[in-house]
Amino acid sequence: MVEARGLRRSYGDTEVLAGIDLMVREGEVVALLGPSGSGKSTLLRTLNHLDGLDGGSVLVNGTAIGYDWQGRELPERRTARQRVTAGVGMVFQSFDLFEHLTVRENVAAPLRWVHGLGRDEASARADELLASVGMSHRADALPRHLSGGQQQRVGIARALAPRPRVLLLDEPTSALDPEKVAEVLQVIRDLARTSGLTMVIATHQLRFAREVADRVVFMAGGVVVEEGPADDVLLRPQHALTRSFVGAMD
Ligand code: ATP
Ligand code: MG
Repeated sequence: MVEARGLRRSYGDTEVLAGIDLMVREGEVVALLGPSGSGKSTLLRTLNHLDGLDGGSVLVNGTAIGYDWQGRELPERRTARQRVTAGVGMVFQSFDLFEHLTVRENVAAPLRWVHGLGRDEASARADELLASVGMSHRADALPRHLSGGQQQRVGIARALAPRPRVLLLDEPTSALDPEKVAEVLQVIRDLARTSGLTMVIATHQLRFAREVADRVVFMAGGVVVEEGPADDVLLRPQHALTRSFVGAMD
């Protein structure tokens, strides 16, 4: 579960997050929509403390991400452990796999480094996850020898390895060739339907958002402009900004 209140984040003179409130219930799947530059990636990074905050607070599964109980920012080493404690994983637009590690090692290495699993145990868990995303046959390959869709499926397996309860996905298919999009969307659809994970997915794909999300949150100008059940926001948008966004993309 994610509880973000009053999030503020500026870069120079630009206030990218201007007081964002976002509540995501346990097991809920939320699609995060908004024009390019509206702050979707910044928001997701903030929820995972890959980016600092100028104001507001984030609780993930009851753990204050990146802050101690007095609201002081914590050093990076502790925040990495907190992410694990809080049970949050992230999938990136550009995959961000470790280039010098094989597919299996990409999934297993964080389990060893961060979670202290032994080599055999981590490899077994990696193989299980690679099977679940249909990537067992490339377990010994290096990422650069995979297609984008395959790399992203490995990225998803890596994010799932520590058994997170919350999965954040930042435009997981926007760097893919059109013919590779479907295979990754199918993996995400299956996760949304069967895993019970709490998910927040930034995406530009309205049809996918409608299929996969319980709720849609539309951001613009650093705030949440409109949110609600997917069909309400996408088919019957109330706000002029949402209407023009939905209209422009369909
Ligand atoms: P897109 O749909 O294109 O991915 P987005 O909604 O994810 O867009 P962000 O990437 O969060 O938008 O960026 C929001 C704004 O913040 C943009 O104006 C961007 O230039 C700015 N920004 C983001 N990260 C940084 C940074 N590290 N330094 C300076 N400006 C940044
Ligand atoms: Mg983005």
